[in-house]
Amino acid sequence: MEAFTHSVSHDLKEPLRTIEAFSQFVLEDYAERLDDQGRDYLQKLAKASARMKQLIEDLLALSRIGRHVDQAPSADVSRIVAGVVEGMRATVDQRSANVRVQDSLPHVQADAARLEQIFGNLIANGIKFNRSPRPVVEVGLRERNAGDATFFVRDNGIGIDPQYHERIFGIFQRLHRREEYEGTGAGLAIVKRAIEALGGRMWLESALGDGTTFLFTLPLAGEDATAQAA
Ligand code: ADP
Repeated sequence: MEAFTHSVSHDLKEPLRTIEAFSQFVLEDYAERLDDQGRDYLQKLAKASARMKQLIEDLLALSRIGRHVDQAPSADVSRIVAGVVEGMRATVDQRSANVRVQDSLPHVQADAARLEQIFGNLIANGIKFNRSPRPVVEVGLRERNAGDATFFVRDNGIGIDPQYHERIFGIFQRLHRREEYEGTGAGLAIVKRAIEALGGRMWLESALGDGTTFLFTLPLAGEDATAQAA
């Protein structure tokens, strides 16, 4: 299935590039020969192909991230999360958000790319699905077990009705219209697959209007795992 998705996504991208390019040529070179309606149709065409491209990119990301990881390296979660937050500085400032990260998070067995996807998507959602004038997203450790640790990403946002707690992890599943909140609905599907590829589990605690806490486990690495065992 992964290989199939990968190759189909690549194949779909090529005709799409042609559609994009030619609608752009028409818009640039023939704009004055069209009336307003004609230009409007073309703009809609260009927008729809850009969106299709994003959906295909998301499918590709999903197919890549789900590959099972046998021997993941040790990664410093504190360092990775700090980097992710730094990369979001513009969004954080624009929304007057506050991202609080607990000190000294443990090392886990995971590759940096997957960890960045996981924390990046969850923190971004915590700011995006938030109507507070001062969005707050907290990242930390809820629990440390023998071989793994449970992390949380909590926000003071719009919350999610429990009847949708499963559905939101489906690919391209969204609870809102694009006009309300931007997005394709691939983020959480990607995050969950990434966590499962690393041997973890993911769930959430949330009610409508009450903020959301995403929780997930990841296998502890090296010293952090043995520290617990000792
Ligand atoms: P996208 O962000 O592109 O919509 P996601 O897969 O990340 O896609 O999320 C799927 C849906 O789950 C979102 O459209 C939104 O309705 C809901 N959701 C995700 N994260 C949150 C959150 N932190 N608070 C409230 N709703 C959320």
